[in-house]
Amino acid sequence: MVTEPLGRTTATRFDVSPELWEQLVTLARAEKPKECCGVGIGPVGEVARFHALENVHEEPITRYEISSKDQLRVHLEAEDNGWDVTLVFHSHPATEPYPSATDLALAGWPDAVYAIIGMADPDQPLLRAYRIVDAVITELDVRHP
Ligand SMILES: [Zn+2]
Repeated sequence: MVTEPLGRTTATRFDVSPELWEQLVTLARAEKPKECCGVGIGPVGEVARFHALENVHEEPITRYEISSKDQLRVHLEAEDNGWDVTLVFHSHPATEPYPSATDLALAGWPDAVYAIIGMADPDQPLLRAYRIVDAVITELDVRHP
């Protein structure tokens, strides 16, 4: 059996459960016109739990930042369960859901799925997901309800 290094995933798909989809869309709608953000944790390649987190950036309309306190809390919770940070999520309230230069610079979890939801039309949320490793973006095939 071929095993991948611990924590690595080469999945090219991001399957969003109905529950997670509801959480992501509800959060993005509630925070618009600000960017929302949240983190999912679970076994490799899986989002078992999603945490909506506060966007503490001083320009929350166009940027997001997760406090180091929240990052640590979520990281420890993942670790306690033998899990990883598997999803890093934020919204683009008015623009295309494509990673910005800032998003690239901040992408520090090579094993996480980076999902961005475009809310330019709040009735038609546009979810895109990427893997970002060393500033190289690979778009994933997103399936959601
Ligand atoms: Zn962004």
